[in-house]
Amino acid sequence: MGKICPKCKHKQDDPRILGCEKCQVAYVDETELVTSFTKDELKIIASFLLRDWRVYVAASVGLLAPTFKSVLPLSRPRLKRVNRPQH
Ligand SMILES: [Zn+2]
Repeated sequence: MGKICPKCKHKQDDPRILGCEKCQVAYVDETELVTSFTKDELKIIASFLLRDWRVYVAASVGLLAPTFKSVLPLSRPRLKRVNRPQH
């Protein structure tokens, strides 16, 4: 498997040249560019997704909090009835 430039996809002509002279980036294995993303780019995308997930979680908690508040007063009397000592 040859190495190619992750930016311009130019193939490595000379194994002694480790990077693309045009883009000033290091050549990477062709297999690493199967998804057209480099490993570093995937890491960045993954971190963005993680950040988004946290946003989604925070948003869903914010949306669910008022729902729980409206449910709690309804469930409280039922709990009192269950806990009432039976004489
Ligand atoms: Zn290049």
